[in-house]
Amino acid sequence: MNDAERAGEVLTRLRQLHPDARVELDFETPLQLLVATILAAQSTDRRVNLVTPVLFSHYPDAEALAEADNEELQEVIRSTGFFRQKAKNLQACCQMLTEEHAGEVPTDMESLTALPGVGRKTANVVRAVAYGLPGIAVDTHCKRLSNRLQFTGNSDPVKIEGDLGALFPESAWVEVSRMFVWHGRYTCKARTPLCAECNLQDLCPWFREQGRGA
Ligand code: SF4
Repeated sequence: MNDAERAGEVLTRLRQLHPDARVELDFETPLQLLVATILAAQSTDRRVNLVTPVLFSHYPDAEALAEADNEELQEVIRSTGFFRQKAKNLQACCQMLTEEHAGEVPTDMESLTALPGVGRKTANVVRAVAYGLPGIAVDTHCKRLSNRLQFTGNSDPVKIEGDLGALFPESAWVEVSRMFVWHGRYTCKARTPLCAECNLQDLCPWFREQGRGA
């Protein structure tokens, strides 16, 4: 089985193993997803989901966030960690959205990654989940799983995105991203991957070389 065939089989089995895999951040609009994704850095989706209802009731649009009192905003998002930097980024981001995009979240990668606090991973999440555009968001879970499956030998997320993009058809990118994040988060965990619960053992070089019996 070559790598492309193995990749296709991995995706088929991940669909079977995780039929409910989804993005766990709560949102109703592209702006809410963008804000929630920025807040999720170094935090958990569950923690962010506790904060965003309050945040969005206080500041319902980009203009309101841009003009918010910085210290009040910090208090609202404090529990997500790194709240000073996140508040600063959120306000600068929303200011740019207000001034250059009429308060709307753009869809193209260049405009998204020009926003303060928005890297390629966040841009891919917004493009894929809010707009249904093809993209692979490489977070720490996707990165770990991709390396263990030897679908990449890279550690740079942009290079991993390219490696996965070459291996899977564009029509599957959004699903690959969702499945890899979910499987990495809940099964192929960093310290102790749950190989006994994983249906990829026979497709997984890491299991063959190191994980047998884990
Ligand atoms: S067999 Fe183990 S190491 Fe390989 S993908 Fe599954 S959980 Fe991860």
